Amino acid sequence: MTNSNSPIIGIDLGTTMSAAAWFDQGTVRFIRNELDDVLTPSVVAVDPRTKNVVTGRIAKDLLASDPACGAALFKRSIGVDGASFSMGDRSFTPIELSAYILDSLRRDAERTFGEPVQRCVITVPAYFNEAQRRATLQAGQIAGLSVERIVNEPTAAAIAYGLNESPDELRFVVLDLGGGTFDVCVMEYFDGLLEVKSVAGKSQLGGEDFTRALLTLGLDKAGIPESSLSIGHFGLMLRRAELVKRQLARWPSATLNLADNDAEPLTVDISAEEASEAFQPLLSAMLEPCRTALRGNRMHADEVDDVILVGGGTRMPCVRQFAEDLFQREPKMDRDVDLVVVRGAAIQAALHAGDEALEDVVVTDVASHSLGISSSREISGRRIFDLFSPVIERNTVIPTSRSDVFATLEDNQTELSIEVYEGELRQASANRKLGEFTVKRIPKGPAGQQVSVRFTYDLSGILEVEATVLETGESVAHVFKRGREDLSDTEIERATQRMQGLKSDPRERPHYRDLLTRAHLLYQDSTGEHRARISYYLDQFESALSTSTPKTIEAAFNQLSEVCQRLDGGERW
Ligand code: ADP
Ligand code: MG
Repeated sequence: MTNSNSPIIGIDLGTTMSAAAWFDQGTVRFIRNELDDVLTPSVVAVDPRTKNVVTGRIAKDLLASDPACGAALFKRSIGVDGASFSMGDRSFTPIELSAYILDSLRRDAERTFGEPVQRCVITVPAYFNEAQRRATLQAGQIAGLSVERIVNEPTAAAIAYGLNESPDELRFVVLDLGGGTFDVCVMEYFDGLLEVKSVAGKSQLGGEDFTRALLTLGLDKAGIPESSLSIGHFGLMLRRAELVKRQLARWPSATLNLADNDAEPLTVDISAEEASEAFQPLLSAMLEPCRTALRGNRMHADEVDDVILVGGGTRMPCVRQFAEDLFQREPKMDRDVDLVVVRGAAIQAALHAGDEALEDVVVTDVASHSLGISSSREISGRRIFDLFSPVIERNTVIPTSRSDVFATLEDNQTELSIEVYEGELRQASANRKLGEFTVKRIPKGPAGQQVSVRFTYDLSGILEVEATVLETGESVAHVFKRGREDLSDTEIERATQRMQGLKSDPRERPHYRDLLTRAHLLYQDSTGEHRARISYYLDQFESALSTSTPKTIEAAFNQLSEVCQRLDGGERW
């Protein structure tokens, strides 16, 4: 059960670090864990002594001395079919591991508030596909959370930097160097709307690689081959290299001790300059995703109005310099770069809790992959099968509901199979299959019986596909579920219900309907210039109603009501 009075929290479920926060009287407050930290390592382990599952810093420490007893970086495999991690003699899916982290954050929040906490918003990378978003949602459900929104990390970051309150139009880039990933996102802000325009990144490049590069440098300098270190020793060295990395972000040099725990210290000095050189290949690798993201929005680096830095890795001066050199401007940088995303998530959570209408105006997102069905087409007298027909194109602003009409191929065909895919490849089966279902009871007759297929996709990334036989009006709907990690029926029902609001025709909203009636009456009653004016604004409103975002509809609504108001008042133009 959801307790609607409990505070709604924002959660950043990171690849290496997670955090939770809430918005309280105008400020974001961070939830502290049992060790009094605001960042909880995204690590789960089975304590070899007690056999208990432990999370966070404790799990990370266990893992450093015995990598087989726990799991880290599981966010990289969330939503991947069949992925699992074995710990001790047990095996866990990435969803379960994420659920352990979410559960610990929820408990920390409950300790902070002294009351049950259920409602939350969780952030995910903008490039996460349908399966990954759904898996994240399920992890939340397993952890006893009611996930009200899945928000893109760069969107949350932009909100944290207040870019959604800018007086001007903005085109900006979000660079997020986390522990294990580098994400680049080009976004635009215009008239109250934040939009993700294009995304690129490297899923195997993060702050941890900088730590490794530093350790390699230290071992090289000391002439110790990496292969001579035991696993435990290597884990310890990595932790020390991590500290040196942090020191070098602030000081010109630092000392790395390469000796095992009880042994005599064996130290090497590393200067910031040497480190910078060792980091060069990593920095070069960051260039390509930046270029790809810019190209995705047909922009050059010098057309960017702002660059915002996110993620612990951007604390390193060389990363800041990289951004400055590339974009020729000083990047915006919060003091707590690793808390930017959770800060935005908390603000978004408060917006969501406070005013459901407001949120869709402030934040929109785009579908990161095209969604569509497999179809066939007649090309030069030959029928080509297995063609991908996108219904929702990549980069479409969501939430959205779109439909397309397909037809039967054969005479007297009474069934049509709807195979749903996501991806960008022309051959349907080369894309990622989300599932399929069959439309039955199509009336017998010549080929070409029409079936309308409607895709409804919301901000949480849940997809409903509804197929309607146009002649009979009979329809079947399907919410996509995947493999073993299916949503339960009640969960699907909830998701479907949530989507009803989205699908319902905005014309049916009482105040829109009233205005339409009133405008049509005024149109009938007026002539000449008045009639032309009302007709113009009616057209605007009607076209907004059928195609646009809530924000545009609202703007057209306001204009038309103003015109009606003036005409009703007998005003002259
Ligand atoms: P994620 O979102 O991927 O979980 P974070 O944004 O929390 O990760 O970033 C974690 C990374 O930031 C780690 O690799 C960590 O070493 C690095 N990091 C944190 N603080 C510093 C610092 N002061 N200097 C350099 N790197 C840092
Ligand atoms: Mg992050």
